[in-house]
Amino acid sequence: MNNRKKMLLTILMTLFLIFLSGVFIQQRIVNMLNKAAEHSVARQTEDLSMLAGERFRRFLTPLQTAAKHLSEHEEDKADMLKMLVQQNPLGQAGLIDFQHHTLGRSVSNSSFPRLQLAFHGNTIIDYNPDIGILLATPVIYGDNVRYVLYQIYPISILPQLFALSDYDAFTHVIIQYHDGTLAVPYENYTTEDTKFWADDTIQEGMREVHRRLERNKAAAVYTEGAEGKYFVFGADLPQTDFSLIGYMPWSAVAGQIISIYQRVFFLFTLMLILFACLSIYLLMAQTSVAETEELRQARQAADAANQAKSQFLANMSHEIRTPLNAISGMNEMILRQELPREVRQYASNIRSATTALLTIINEILDFSKIESGHMEIVPTDYQLTQVLREVCTLVGVRAQTKNLDFRINVDAELPNGLHGDAGRLRQILINLLNNAIKYTPSGSVTLDISGQQLKNTLYLQAAVTDTGIGIREEDKDRLFHVFERLDLKRNCQIEGTGLGLAITHRLLTMMNGSIKVDSTYGQGSVFTIELPQEIHSFEPVGAFSVNAQPDLDAGLRHQSSFIAPAAQVLIVDDNDMNCFVASSLLKETQMQTVIAHSGAEALKALQEKHFHVVLLDYMMPGMNGVETLHKAKQLPNIGATRFIALTATAISGSREKFLREGFDNYLSKPMTGDELSVMLHQYLPPELIQQPLPSPAPAPVEVKKPTSTADATPLIDPKLGLTYCNNMQAIYDKVLTLFHDQSADRIAQMDQDLARDNWQDYRINIHALKSTALTIGCRTLNQKAKEQEQAVKDYLAEDATASQQQQAMDYIRQNHADIMNLYRQAAALATSQSAE
Ligand code: ADP
Repeated sequence: MNNRKKMLLTILMTLFLIFLSGVFIQQRIVNMLNKAAEHSVARQTEDLSMLAGERFRRFLTPLQTAAKHLSEHEEDKADMLKMLVQQNPLGQAGLIDFQHHTLGRSVSNSSFPRLQLAFHGNTIIDYNPDIGILLATPVIYGDNVRYVLYQIYPISILPQLFALSDYDAFTHVIIQYHDGTLAVPYENYTTEDTKFWADDTIQEGMREVHRRLERNKAAAVYTEGAEGKYFVFGADLPQTDFSLIGYMPWSAVAGQIISIYQRVFFLFTLMLILFACLSIYLLMAQTSVAETEELRQARQAADAANQAKSQFLANMSHEIRTPLNAISGMNEMILRQELPREVRQYASNIRSATTALLTIINEILDFSKIESGHMEIVPTDYQLTQVLREVCTLVGVRAQTKNLDFRINVDAELPNGLHGDAGRLRQILINLLNNAIKYTPSGSVTLDISGQQLKNTLYLQAAVTDTGIGIREEDKDRLFHVFERLDLKRNCQIEGTGLGLAITHRLLTMMNGSIKVDSTYGQGSVFTIELPQEIHSFEPVGAFSVNAQPDLDAGLRHQSSFIAPAAQVLIVDDNDMNCFVASSLLKETQMQTVIAHSGAEALKALQEKHFHVVLLDYMMPGMNGVETLHKAKQLPNIGATRFIALTATAISGSREKFLREGFDNYLSKPMTGDELSVMLHQYLPPELIQQPLPSPAPAPVEVKKPTSTADATPLIDPKLGLTYCNNMQAIYDKVLTLFHDQSADRIAQMDQDLARDNWQDYRINIHALKSTALTIGCRTLNQKAKEQEQAVKDYLAEDATASQQQQAMDYIRQNHADIMNLYRQAAALATSQSAE
């Protein structure tokens, strides 16, 4: 039975119970009121009995007065009788003596047996149904009764003299003798009345009256039968053998009862109506609650199904992406070989196909991640110009191949150092620009970067304007729907999944941003995004041109924004290369740097000397960064020293994690010179910081091209590597050499770790490779090391199941050789580049 039916049944039951209790209460009230009425009728009866008694007394009084007179004037016997008859002609007066001699109306003992009592000195009232009523009183001489003076009232006149029917119109009273004979009926007493009194219920009522009279002077009982509803009552007449009985209709007494009864009935009807209304309301409310509940459950089910779908898509995409990456990696290696022209062509085709496929898979993966709530926004400090440069490099090439004019205008006043998820910003811009290029057959694509600054937040605006096919007004609403591709007639030749804008829209929403579109069909579109980003450095962007190489030029003219010759900085990293990069980046600032290759060395250095800032690698073999920090904090005079963690894993929540451990801040490796100086500027004592003297611009340095086959994508991107070396070729060269020099040892070490299942050290080494690869500008190796590290983490995870561990292990073993090969290749390339 569903809830609704249950509720309906409960309401009906309750209504029925209310009705029953109404009837019951009504019955009780009527009974109570009848009882009260019985009391009141009994009191009236008592009054009546007194009235009846009074009547008899009224006739007795003259008799007694005459008797008193006779007791003193015996001679006046005849006169007294005459006088009595005169006073009351209806009463036949007489006098009787002991010998039964009578004077006046004769009487005998046999007709009135109680007469004898009068000779014993009592005043009596006696009754003979054939004769009438006798009133008699003794006439006393001295101590003896000599005569009895009496009056007889014949039957025919009794009602006239003694009837009590004038009491009220409803009350019918009979005076009866003790043996039950009717002495004085009420007026208009007929045979019908005799029948009435003979009725069973009336008789039963009278029996109850007599029972009650044993304890009370008067009694009344409510009876209800074929005759109707009545109160019957009775009372003894004092000092006589008479009693009175009578009845009155219930309605005559119960006028008030009826009105109370009606009120109770009205109240209950009202209650029933109220309850019925309440029930209807509750039923309706319950129905709507049930509907909402059904809707909620349906939505939950739909959400769960959607999540399951997204999870499935995410898993599938991940599964496909892994072998696809392997195919693309292998293909890259093939392309780096000397190849016959035909084979190279095939391999190039494979590359375009895998790139297209990877784009689709990545989009599906991204979307599924967003849908299943697994997409994380990872805010870090970044340079706006760096993101724009990366975007322009990628998009510029595409625009060029389509012969489109690609322009970028950047507001020079915008702050360059922002805090946010640079990766997602890059993805959004690339997405919009790629669309603009895809859907523009000729003309131009323009990226306008502007923004509004509000305290520490920059509301970054990016507008992508194209002169392409435009979007029809009616299609605009569907633009951001998943898998929606518009105007398919015109666009069927253009590759796409219909996911790009949906992802862009959701990513922006996740980052509190927004997107809008203006478009004229056939003329072009403008997609504008707005994204709030925290400002971490107010240094302005300056002039930015897509055709020039401001990045490099700026780097070549790089000059530290401050110097701090007295600052003491301890760099702690087990990797020589990282130590070298950090110390080189700080050279310009003229700080005093000391290098420690392990936690133990760092503690020793800290005991020997005071350092203002310690740059402490988070993941080191032996004593890791956190242990080193905790031990260092226990050293004397360490209070003023600030600790910055160096990590190659910056994910959301990292900052909080490092702060919790006791670090003052963290930098993600590889870091740029700017990032490092900004951080040190923040944590060095201000008195140590000085303005640098202006230095002449160094001669432009030519960036070396990587050694590789003509049409292969360079394995090492020197431009990228240089960004981590303050764009200083000398530092970069040294970094390349160090990368090469340590490679053989590191590879041997990792091979050994893998063979011995030494996962902790393997993880530390692969983690280090991740950042050193990026420092030399080798994104592929960086990416592979990152994935390998993730697999090791999955394997070591405390909550990993056996099958998850097995999966991770298979992945690690499958990829290890490839990564090591790539490492070797990168190392070889590094040495050849640095040697040039
Ligand atoms: P797709 O992978 O199909 O490009 P998107 O989600 O990026 O998917 O875009 C959805 C649809 O919006 C496209 O199929 C296209 O019809 C339309 N569209 C997107 N950008 C533009 C643009 N710049 N000019 C014209 N139409 C566009």
